[in-house]
Amino acid sequence: AIINDLLTLVKLDQKEIPLNFKETNLTQMMTDIIKRLQPMADAKHISLQWDASKEIHAEADEMKLSLAISNLVDNAVKYTPEEGTVKVSLDADHQNVFISVADTGIGIPEDKINEVFERFVKLNTFAKGTGLGLAICRVIVERLGGTIGADSKEGEGSCFWLRLPITQKSNN
Ligand code: ATP
Ligand code: MG
Repeated sequence: AIINDLLTLVKLDQKEIPLNFKETNLTQMMTDIIKRLQPMADAKHISLQWDASKEIHAEADEMKLSLAISNLVDNAVKYTPEEGTVKVSLDADHQNVFISVADTGIGIPEDKINEVFERFVKLNTFAKGTGLGLAICRVIVERLGGTIGADSKEGEGSCFWLRLPITQKSNN
């Protein structure tokens, strides 16, 4: 799994993997992701909240964006104790879409927030994983012409957010 993740990351980073842009129904894409991760949330009695009432579209590579968002929701559930809450939101203005994944989990120390997007960074030893998820997220979001970031408070929770352009002007 580590070798596969690392290969994906390197190939995405070096643009060896082409992007496949097409008009994407983000509301549907997000609903599918939530459905897939619901059992993992249920197992920890975590309330996974998602409001699918607004239909938002963007020009994106659905497979890769879906992988990136899945990583964020997977982390939110993984790093939130039982009975917590994970809230996923999708919004847009005329130029951008905004996606966020907020949890009531263990949080991240302020001085480590930028570090978590680096490859092989793991702040906790209790959880399984290779520490490549967020590095993959970042390279995907950046190739889609967007930005990704996080706000967090240790012991209270984290919010990972990303912005993506609705239409692609250049070749990413
Ligand atoms: P992988 O995603 O490769 O299975 P991982 O989850 O450990 O492994 P990343 O997704 O890259 O790796 O996250 C890096 C580290 O950032 C995590 O190990 C964890 O310490 C921290 N982290 C990520 N998301 C959260 C979150 N929502 N709350 C608290 N800590 C987080
Ligand atoms: Mg992860």
